[in-house]
Amino acid sequence: MEELRELYQQIILEHYRNPRNFGELPEATHRAEGHNPLCGDRLEVALRIEEGRITEIRFRGSGCAISQASASVMTTLVKGKTMAEAEALCERFQRIVTGKEPPNSELDLLDAFAGVREFPSRVKCATLGWHTLRAALQQVPETVTTE
Ligand code: ZN
Repeated sequence: MEELRELYQQIILEHYRNPRNFGELPEATHRAEGHNPLCGDRLEVALRIEEGRITEIRFRGSGCAISQASASVMTTLVKGKTMAEAEALCERFQRIVTGKEPPNSELDLLDAFAGVREFPSRVKCATLGWHTLRAALQQVPETVTTE
């Protein structure tokens, strides 16, 4: 199907096959779990936040290519960012996949997922990682360091 071919762009497949920042993060300060029952996607996002900045991030989970690739791309984009910058990226991604923001003219990893706006059920797959990131950002740190 032509539209599915468009949906599963090369970037998405590549991140699905070779997810970045995948695994456990024992030294995490923030964690959250996300679940998309419509598709069966599950994710756990773990962050290490130091002085308001995401210094490390990992995700684990299973699900469709869109959900896993989107989480992988998310980790590459927010690593090293401040919490406020990460929140702003969450909002921008939401606008892109719901069609409220037109695609960029230059190469932009977020735009790789713009095609899901044609498939409302896949929007939840694409945004799961970002929703889980936001949940992790907004919780009280699990581990308080004394340093
Ligand atoms: Zn899915």
